[in-house]
Amino acid sequence: MSFNDDVNIGGSQVGSGGGGGAPGGMVVGGGIGGIILLVIALIFGINPSDLPTNPGGGGSDQGQVQPGGTEQDSELANCKTGADANKSDACRVKATVLAVNTFWSQELPKYKREYTPAKTILYNGSTQSACGTASNQVGPFYCPLDKQVYIDASFFQILTDQFGSSSGPLAQEYVVAHEYGHHVQDLLGLLDEAQKDPKGEQSGGVRIELMADCLAGVWANHATETKGESTKGGEVAFLKPLTDQDIKDALSAASSVGDDRIQEKTQGRVSPESWTHGSAAARQKWFTTGYKTGDLNQCDTLSPDTVE
Ligand SMILES: [Zn+2]
Repeated sequence: MSFNDDVNIGGSQVGSGGGGGAPGGMVVGGGIGGIILLVIALIFGINPSDLPTNPGGGGSDQGQVQPGGTEQDSELANCKTGADANKSDACRVKATVLAVNTFWSQELPKYKREYTPAKTILYNGSTQSACGTASNQVGPFYCPLDKQVYIDASFFQILTDQFGSSSGPLAQEYVVAHEYGHHVQDLLGLLDEAQKDPKGEQSGGVRIELMADCLAGVWANHATETKGESTKGGEVAFLKPLTDQDIKDALSAASSVGDDRIQEKTQGRVSPESWTHGSAAARQKWFTTGYKTGDLNQCDTLSPDTVE
């Protein structure tokens, strides 16, 4: 969906990570196969395997992300209005982060929960997170240790070229909103569910991912009523009303990263016992549930007997 041209998207909720250069110690199987396999592990992930086992021992100092004088920096600095967000992917990420943080800051207090806006690091090449190295080989993720979202600038191209998703704006906005779904889950103390039982069709891991899809849908439902500052004075909604095409774009993105789709493509067969994110059908179903109801409570994927 498109942003209203005059909504102000200045501010600093999106920073840039260091660009270029292969990170030391990052070992990946070469070639496209290796890239896809790693993306499977982490796509839209929360990287729970990197959480410290000792809750008191998480004092990692790797979380310092130093914005450098990268291309991304100046591109982000030039993202000032919704009109810019409608023209460039980087500005669209910046605008979506602001819109999503604004929405949850208003929504969670209705449930007597506090929301703390989370920052996104939009980087080129690779950058360090408190959960390990972020690169376009691991895909976007939310890191609970530094409470930041990491998105590589090339990911949206990968999503369309390698996963076959539509490239429409709501496809990209869904990715951002899904990661913020994990931040909401973190604030609600739910992320442990994924760690306890990470794999399989009805696992905690899959349920947490499907809930994040549903929370992305809840945001999409409310996105056109959430307001920001207008460059003309007063307030204006972040987004224009959603079109049918917007919803098709989001569903296309959700299904393209379904575990069954990815497994068919990479290993030629589907093995639900190793699913971590849910099938294409389930991901679409839960996004739709959130979008149609706009109700956080409808996103309870932990209680039903089955979620697929
Ligand atoms: Zn996820």
